Order: sequence, then structure tokens, then C-alpha cells
Amino acid sequence: MAPHILVTNDDGIDSPGLHALALALSEVGDVTVVAPDRNWSISGHQKTLARFLRADPYELPHAGVRAFAASGSPADCVAMAAMGLLERSLDLVVSGINKGPNLGQDITYSGTVAATFEAAIFGYPAVAVSLDSRDPTASFQDAAQVAARIARRVLVEGLPRHSLLNINVPSLPATDWKGLQVTRLGRRDYLDTLARGVDPSGRPYYWITGEAPLGDIETSGTDIWAVHHGYVSVTPIRLDMTDHHLLDQVRAWNLES
Ligand code: MN
Repeated sequence: MAPHILVTNDDGIDSPGLHALALALSEVGDVTVVAPDRNWSISGHQKTLARFLRADPYELPHAGVRAFAASGSPADCVAMAAMGLLERSLDLVVSGINKGPNLGQDITYSGTVAATFEAAIFGYPAVAVSLDSRDPTASFQDAAQVAARIARRVLVEGLPRHSLLNINVPSLPATDWKGLQVTRLGRRDYLDTLARGVDPSGRPYYWITGEAPLGDIETSGTDIWAVHHGYVSVTPIRLDMTDHHLLDQVRAWNLES
């Protein structure tokens, strides 16, 4: 039987990146989409416990892919699919294709990647896919093709429990890509600023704003370097965030005394 692939995202079920991904993956297996009914970008790993959730059948632009629009977060979509919304068990979870990169420390903010964290917690192999472009007219076709190729390989090779792959695709046509690099996370430099104002009732408000983040494009081997230099970046990520280098150092602090 063909593998069963869950496709979700954080940009919402009407996003062309999701549609391109679902279509490309339908060549790899049986695709079911469970995606949020609105945009959850930069929502991190949120789980909804205090409110009920809906998951209504949804008509995608192309036939042959069953879809549900859910009222929860990307992680909620994965959790619902894993815990009984779908009668068939999952072989792989793929999240994206996100409009905009998820590089370096972005993955701690990303709803796209949070969906794959949730999948990894449930023990499914998972792949997050993002396009390094904020252009609303950007094409997702080439990114969808490379995502499908990597997904096919993950289904063969498997991934260790609690690990996932984070893919970022440069905003160039595939013919201009330099190749593919397996990378580690790089360092993001955020340019956020705090805007202040006063609302009509005289109460102050604050707004976190600023330019899109930069990053360390000098250090090779990182995701930020790879995408900046025109490579597709594939970063293996694991949920175990223990700082193994720091264990002995903190033990030497003798915190018990
Ligand atoms: Mn997004």
C-alpha cells in the first residue's frame, strides 16, 4: 500500500505553498491535508487544550487530495490527525511550503517547524519545508519537487525517533541552484524594534516591528550560509535540546551546596 503522508502548514489551508506541496507529494504517497483555517505564522509550538477544535472538510484546488481545515494551530492539526481524526495511521508528516525562510533560531518561532516537532513527539518522521522568499507571487513548484524527492528518501531511510529534517529552498529557479547541502543551524541576527504609541483612549501600546532578520552568512556549513549561497539546505534537528557540552560544567557548580 502507498505510504500515508499528512501535509500541514502554518500559512493556512488556502496557501499556494501548501497546495504545491500536497500535489507534489501525491506522486509519493496517499496525501491527506489537515491545515489551519488561517495564518499561524510565528506562533511557535502551541497546543490548544482550553477550547474545542473543529476540522471541517475542505475542497483543495486540485482533486484527489482529501483535506480538512482546522480551527487550531499547526501542532493541533498534527495532533488531531495522529489521535483519530484520520482513520488511517501516518507514515510521514510534511509541513509547508512556508512563505519565508525558517533558518537558525527562526525554528523556535516557526509554526511550520512546530508542526514537525509535534509529529516527532508522536514518533512520526517529519520534514519542514520553507522557501526563502517573501514575494507573494513566488513559485513553489521547484521547492515542492525537491521536497517530494527528500520525502521519498525519508520514507525509505526513516529518521530516528524525535528527529526531523528542516529544509530551506533558495528563491531561485531550480536551474540556478548550486546544489544541496546538509547543514547545521546558523546564527540569526534579528532587527526587531519596539514601536510605541498611544491609543485613542490615551492608553499606551507597543508593537514589535522592524526589518526582516539577517544572519551570519560567513560561516560555511550552516543553513543560513547555504541558502544565501544558492543551495537547498537540509538540517537534521532533534527535540533533545540538552546542552551536552554544558552538563559537566554546570555539575561542577555544586548547586546542592
Ligand atoms: Mn508561515
